[in-house]
Amino acid sequence: MKRKLSILLAAAASLVLLAACGSGQSKTDASGENSSEEKLQVVATNSIIADMAKEIGGELIALHSIVPVGTDPHEYEPLPQDIQKASEADVVLYNGLNLETGNGWFEKLMDTAGKKENTDYFAVSRTVTPMYLSNQESSHTEDPHAWLDISNGIAYSEEIARIFAEKDLENKEKYLENSEAYTEKLKELDQTAKAEFSDIPEEKRLLVTSEGAFKYFSKAYGLTAAYIWEINTESQGTPEQMKTIIDTVKSSDVPSLFVETSVDARSMERLSKEADLPIYSKIFTDSVAEKGEDGDSYYTMMKWNLEKIHEGLSQ
Ligand SMILES: [Zn+2]
Repeated sequence: MKRKLSILLAAAASLVLLAACGSGQSKTDASGENSSEEKLQVVATNSIIADMAKEIGGELIALHSIVPVGTDPHEYEPLPQDIQKASEADVVLYNGLNLETGNGWFEKLMDTAGKKENTDYFAVSRTVTPMYLSNQESSHTEDPHAWLDISNGIAYSEEIARIFAEKDLENKEKYLENSEAYTEKLKELDQTAKAEFSDIPEEKRLLVTSEGAFKYFSKAYGLTAAYIWEINTESQGTPEQMKTIIDTVKSSDVPSLFVETSVDARSMERLSKEADLPIYSKIFTDSVAEKGEDGDSYYTMMKWNLEKIHEGLSQ
């Protein structure tokens, strides 16, 4: 009797063991695809970085983008789901270069999530040569908007591929392959744009936006950047700022103005009225467009910017 019981107990124990192994080894869900828990868990601070991550990671990653489309990423209040996703993430990607520092939201989030720099979270701008804000107090502060020069966008995506390949060695080749194809596509857009901008007369080469987000862009495509306020974290559209930009615009031959999708448009509308110049188009800076609209990826937002700015300055 005793012997029979111990055999039964041993059988039960091995069943439990089998069941445990079974669930641990299951890599596929009912549809036969890798279930989302098996994928590399990636969090990106904004929609532009998230889009690049999608290009490189494709179906191999599960992605959460923090700052909503159309919203300013300089200042943000993380939601409970952001904290949860950040805590569970294998990789957190952020811009760096002073983008997510507005109210210190990103640093606080990483602290709360218990994440470490260069182990868990990474600045995708690591290899970019920074430009600096030009006003007196912040002359040593980096300008975050590096991605608006496509060659920096390429540097971002190569950095993302390197990080994914390191974190998920098994799929290294795929990440690098995706990165190479993406780089090719971006390079072509960049070269076409550079050739096209050369036909704009010198005196019209002034790019006027609300935030001074186009320093990297202007340097890449041979323009001069002018703006109402320099960075979204400072006060926007003060009388002094308005006076300076009206003077700049009036002393140039610039034919039109532009307004970004992720700022309050009222200051640019006021400038348009006072300088008697049309706002030619909306353009994208700190966010891609809503899904399904023109400019809903990094590639298409850059294509839109390049085309609209070229058209607007050719008027
Ligand atoms: Zn910005």
